[in-house]
Amino acid sequence: MTATNGDPHGSSYGALTADDVARIRMDFPVLDQLINGKPLVYLDNAATTQKPRPVIDAISNYYLHNNANVHRGVHTLSQRATDDYEVGREAIRRFINAPDSSEIIYVRGTTEGLNLVASSYGRKFFKAGDEVIITGMEHHSNIVPWQILGKEIGIRLRVIPFTDQGELLMDEYESMLNERTRLVSVVHQSNALGTINPVSSIVEMAHARGIPVMIDAAQSIPHMPVDVQAMGADFLTFSGHKMYGPTGIGVLWGRADLLNEMPPYQSGGEMIRSVTYEETIYNVIPHKFEAGTPDIAGAIGLGAAVEYLEAIGMDRIAAYEQALMRYGAERLAEIEGVRLIGTAENRGGVLSFYMESAHAHDIGTILDAEGIAVRTGHHCAQPVMARYEIPATVRASLSFYNTTEEIDALIKGIDRVIEVFG
Ligand code: PLP
Repeated sequence: MTATNGDPHGSSYGALTADDVARIRMDFPVLDQLINGKPLVYLDNAATTQKPRPVIDAISNYYLHNNANVHRGVHTLSQRATDDYEVGREAIRRFINAPDSSEIIYVRGTTEGLNLVASSYGRKFFKAGDEVIITGMEHHSNIVPWQILGKEIGIRLRVIPFTDQGELLMDEYESMLNERTRLVSVVHQSNALGTINPVSSIVEMAHARGIPVMIDAAQSIPHMPVDVQAMGADFLTFSGHKMYGPTGIGVLWGRADLLNEMPPYQSGGEMIRSVTYEETIYNVIPHKFEAGTPDIAGAIGLGAAVEYLEAIGMDRIAAYEQALMRYGAERLAEIEGVRLIGTAENRGGVLSFYMESAHAHDIGTILDAEGIAVRTGHHCAQPVMARYEIPATVRASLSFYNTTEEIDALIKGIDRVIEVFG
């Protein structure tokens, strides 16, 4: 398996320096291009991140030299493919400090991780009248699976409200926990607001009542150290493409004792130990939840992405992105007519804003003409927009390859919006 390019990107202490970031940017070929005649400023990292060369190389290497199905062949290519696929799993285990690599289940992404738990765990352990608690700032993928289950078996969804700044009302959360609560499923970092939720406290309060907790780490895992044991979580899920890996691959981590109790989510090849017409015996975890030929290249690419992030250091990434976000928030606050949506004290690199004078899509179009890629819309979090009584925001979301110069370009782009729309 291709590891990182061996360059630890400068000193290993403190936030990344401008030189470190300049070196890092060279690992991302896509960043070096003009869009509408202007240098690309890629600020849509919460939607998906760009891919560094080691990830692209790991995927190409698999297809160029090792392509074969996994876990099935005795021939050399199949052995190599299986080894690299499993090396990826072990890299992910280490990255999130999971106790055992059998608890790392490859899925398509966060959406599938949440659906797997709702479908398998929910159908087995929930009954009519039971309650699942989520926050008011969930992505639709942590709302709709529970709603579908609600229609099917009659569970009730409880929603923790949040302040205008975007901070959860923890007293309200505590008062919702009761003998009917079967699961708490919360987002670690909100994609729409940037809020980093106090997941350890959320877990502690749930566990005090024997209630398991699922964490949607789609937006936190690319930006900060995530340690499932320190957090105390029971399930955690994330997407490869938001953490510099490929699309179509992600991870569900779950405590082995819970996963062992859960029925398969999909069925077919790989997830079985033996099949007769009378009876099928399921395979052990993680294979029980990995029916069919998986995204082998994706898993290998994700392993390479994890190694790339480890080489830079998640603490340094977090420190750099915090400074960049604070700089951006200050610059945006100086512009009259721009309202920052999501100002929690503890938040990540998301600058979500609203302008009365122009629709978010028009702002996005003007920024694109300046070479600036941002996301506009409801960000798959319509209840968050409803909470602020706005239809949409413009969201600039940051990565460690972004720079203060790029924030300045964004500010200049907004000046252009004001010239056009007032
Ligand atoms: N959860 C959060 C917080 C997200 O931001 C996203 C994607 O934007 C998802 C879940 C869904 O991720 P995916 O589309 O990769 O499954």
